[in-house]
Amino acid sequence: MSTIQQLKTYQMLIDGQWVAAASGLTYQVVDPATEQPIAIVPKGAVADAERAVRAARKAFDSGPWPRKLAVERSELLHKAAGLIRERAEDLALLETRQMGKLLAESLVDVNDAAHTFDYYAGLAVEQHGQTLEVPGESMSMVVREPIGVTAGITPWNFPLLMAAWKVAPSLAAGNVMILKPASVSPLTSLELGHILEAAGLPEGVFQVLTGPGGEVGDYLATSGDIDMVAFTGSVEVGKAIMRAGAGNVKKVGLELGGKSPNIVFEDADFEAAIDGALVGIFAGSGEVCSAGSRLLVQRSIYDRFVGELVSRAMAIRVGAPAEESSEMGPLVSQQQLDTVERYVKIGLQEGAKLATGGHRLEGRGYYYEPTIFVDVDNRMRVAQEEIFGPVLVVIPFETEAEAIAIANDTIYGLAGAVWTRDVTRAMRVIKALRAGITWVNTYHPTYSEAPWGGYKQSGVGRELGTFGLDEYQEVKQINIDLTGRALGVYQHGTEDGKQGKVVSLNDRRPFNDEFKADEWVGYCENCR
Ligand code: NAP
Repeated sequence: MSTIQQLKTYQMLIDGQWVAAASGLTYQVVDPATEQPIAIVPKGAVADAERAVRAARKAFDSGPWPRKLAVERSELLHKAAGLIRERAEDLALLETRQMGKLLAESLVDVNDAAHTFDYYAGLAVEQHGQTLEVPGESMSMVVREPIGVTAGITPWNFPLLMAAWKVAPSLAAGNVMILKPASVSPLTSLELGHILEAAGLPEGVFQVLTGPGGEVGDYLATSGDIDMVAFTGSVEVGKAIMRAGAGNVKKVGLELGGKSPNIVFEDADFEAAIDGALVGIFAGSGEVCSAGSRLLVQRSIYDRFVGELVSRAMAIRVGAPAEESSEMGPLVSQQQLDTVERYVKIGLQEGAKLATGGHRLEGRGYYYEPTIFVDVDNRMRVAQEEIFGPVLVVIPFETEAEAIAIANDTIYGLAGAVWTRDVTRAMRVIKALRAGITWVNTYHPTYSEAPWGGYKQSGVGRELGTFGLDEYQEVKQINIDLTGRALGVYQHGTEDGKQGKVVSLNDRRPFNDEFKADEWVGYCENCR
């Protein structure tokens, strides 16, 4: 039997059916630890996307989901969270096999994904509008409504979790969603389709389309029948999505890249800061948007800090991601490995000093050494551009002001951290950082309850927290007349007009003391 015959063949979820691509085309998903194919997936195209968009439109415009009680939507999302937890181990293993992160990290992601569903299940029933104090005999209120047909386009580095960050709030708000996962790691997103189906989600409310981003993703971003696109990925594609979405002025949420500063002051807890610097860059093989990929270290401790950092990085055990003893897995793909190798060459050409790493590991799998460049100038490309791999640049600084200036000297603004025992300094620096996600004396812990997103070219909008639900909702104002009378502006010649009854504009007077009542009633001659 050939290898291909042993592979699991997946189908896409369109309009409640598990289907092949209309073209019949497929592609293989490869395990980056072994370079062997592990699954066959439909290579969807525009014809499949068109079908999904039609089904999504129907599900939103006339289907039951947006019309359900919030408590019913909440129950279903809780059920989905439970089903994710029941399958946590096999989902985590699948995540690891398709994109190479450590199994322990995948398990954390899967549990976070379940928690995201629980969190938005809770928020679904906690949605409140507003009633407003308005002048005159009127009542005004604000209600929240779903946006409509939403599309989620996700990257390969946290496949299930990035899907959960989009799907859970979108469905909680009463929207429908089409998910387009990254081509190299679509399997757990397809499994999410099975999970939501098993939880009882009506047909067409959640669909999963696999296929090339430049075709399927672009179709979703361009379609006039889609009301919102929530995208996580590179800045380059994010800009393309913004342009594509302009056609029908759809709402666009963007979670993009970063080059985040991790700032260590001389008074920091040395041991904790060393550990935080390593976790900041080498967790997830550095394929993390919020990675602390620029380490800024105060000159007075620079030599000692860098010496310890480099010797710890050299001791990191790179190996098979499902092995418990491994501390860093492979990169996701040959393409990502090529990118990392290219940037290491660029760093050397720019004059950055390679303190450790700089090579791929011999043998099968896309493994790369933990790599550290020291004495880096922030103007170098390796300090300015997102490498998205296990490559750290270390930059010395003298003063707090200099650290802040270097930290903010980037097109990105996703994350950043500061290490110091001085709480006043910590808060001064954090407030000065132009970034959406920040830490003091730690790196990377994040919570479904807290908003996630970037300043500057790191993105538009926020995921997670209550802010994340707001993104998937329209707000509507409703103004109600309490007088029971006509506005009176155009009532010339009517019975009310002749009798000068039209005083309601006075009653409604929304202005300040300078308001001239005579000028208003002047619209109606008989009202003078
Ligand atoms: P990417 O190349 O931008 O791809 C992201 C997604 O967009 C994939 O599903 C891709 O499909 C699709 N796509 C590609 N071209 C498209 C187009 N023209 N129109 C519509 N969709 C298109 O990013 P990636 O390499 O998967 O992920 C790494 C990037 O994501 C990094 O920059 C990282 O910083 C960022 N990221 C940000 C966050 C955050 O929260 N801010 C979190 C995680 C990752 P294909 O896979 O089929 O090409």
